[in-house]
This record gives sequence, structure tokens and C-alpha cells, in this order.
Amino acid sequence: MTRREFRPLIALTTTTAEVGGRMRVRVNKPYTDALRRAGAIPVAVPPLDPGDARSLLDRVDGLLLTGGEDVDARRYGQAPHPSAEAPNPERDRWEEALVRAAREHRTPTLATCRGMQLANVAFGGTLVQDIASERPGSHTHTREDARGARVHTVRVETGTRLAGLLEPPSLTVNSLHHQAVDRPGAGLRIVARADDGIVEGIEWADDDWWMVGVQWHPEELEGSPEPWDRMLFDRFVAAVTASSASESRRAPGA
Ligand code: MN
Repeated sequence: MTRREFRPLIALTTTTAEVGGRMRVRVNKPYTDALRRAGAIPVAVPPLDPGDARSLLDRVDGLLLTGGEDVDARRYGQAPHPSAEAPNPERDRWEEALVRAAREHRTPTLATCRGMQLANVAFGGTLVQDIASERPGSHTHTREDARGARVHTVRVETGTRLAGLLEPPSLTVNSLHHQAVDRPGAGLRIVARADDGIVEGIEWADDDWWMVGVQWHPEELEGSPEPWDRMLFDRFVAAVTASSASESRRAPGA
């Protein structure tokens, strides 16, 4: 009898948008490609009722919070900046509940771009709403023309989880954001910055939850010669697999 190789289920968040006159649930395919390449089964989940978060996390092994529209600034007590994109309140509400439930459930969580910002807000942090006007002199971090290009460096603090995942203290990344983490949420710490000081990485400070957030889009860099972005997905999936295995060992009758 052949034993099927274990492949963890990783839920990834999606957005809702009108395309061709119809409302669609959608997510960029590079995310699902990156999870598949790293050995996981991606499960794209639409915005649901906040009360559904626990039921979902009971059935999946890991969580990927994807990029997308700006988080509504009112969720962190600010008036939206004129440059803010139209908010998606259903998505914001769902994902805040989801990441808080992931913390309670200890579901390993990777958050990219908006996903990192959303997680920061969910734990009480704030965002820089518009880098260009609020942090003049910074790099242009909005490089939609170069999704797959490494346009600035990131310095990762040594001794952090993120540094352990990526190994080099300095790497180069793409940059597709006009907002950034400002004050970190409770339990989170800033672990990486661009050389202009803009936050590019956060993580859960305690060892009891595997949670890493990056401001760049590693899924768009999977095909590049540098190894960091594939390493990030590989090690996320390895952490998900390890966490799922230890959970089944604890399950009665397993
Ligand atoms: Mn950037």
C-alpha cells in the first residue's frame, strides 16, 4: 500500500471586485502557484462572516493573508487620506477576525503587503497612509511597472524569525505599496526596514505563534535567480506541515 504524501491545506484570502459587469471573488494566481510549488494545496476563501473564522481554521493547516486594497483607515481611528483606495469593509472585517482567530488557534500565518498591514491593524497598530506625502524623501515604493523587479534593499534584523528564514541580513525586493506599517500592533515587532526607514517586515514577537509579515510580494519573485522568496514560501509550508503534524499527534485516537 502506498502512503500518500502529506500536503497541507493553506487558506488564502481573496478580494471581491466587479469585473465585466459581475461581482467576482478573485486572487492573483502567483500566490496559488507559489503555494503549490512549495508543496501545499491552496484553498482560496472568499470574505465570510467573522464568526466563520474558527470553523475555517479547524479545517486548514495554514493561512496566507494576501495583498490588495488599502485597509480602511477608520479601523485604526484615522480619517482616510485622499489617496486611499475605496474600502472593502466586508473583507477588512473578515480578515481582522481571521487573523485574530489564527493567533488563538496558533495557525501558522504568512502575510504579504496588505495582509501584513491588515494584521498590524487587527492587533491595534496603525499605518502610514501615504508614504509619498507622509514620509517625504522616501523611495518610490509604488512600482507597479516592475512587479517582478527588485527595486530596493531590505535590512532584516538579526536574531529574528524572518532573518532565520531568509538568512542574509540584507536582500532586495519588489515594492508595490503606497502605505506601510507605522506603529506596530500589540504582540508584533518590526523586524525589517528599507534603507529609507519604511517598515518592510513584522512578526509575532513570541515563539508561540509562527506569524511573519512582509511588505513586498514574494509570490511575484518566484522565478528570479535570488532564492529568498522561494525560501520564504518553502519555510512557511514547512512550518505549516510541522505544526499540523504536532496537532494530529495530540488529537485523541490519532
Ligand atoms: Mn517597499
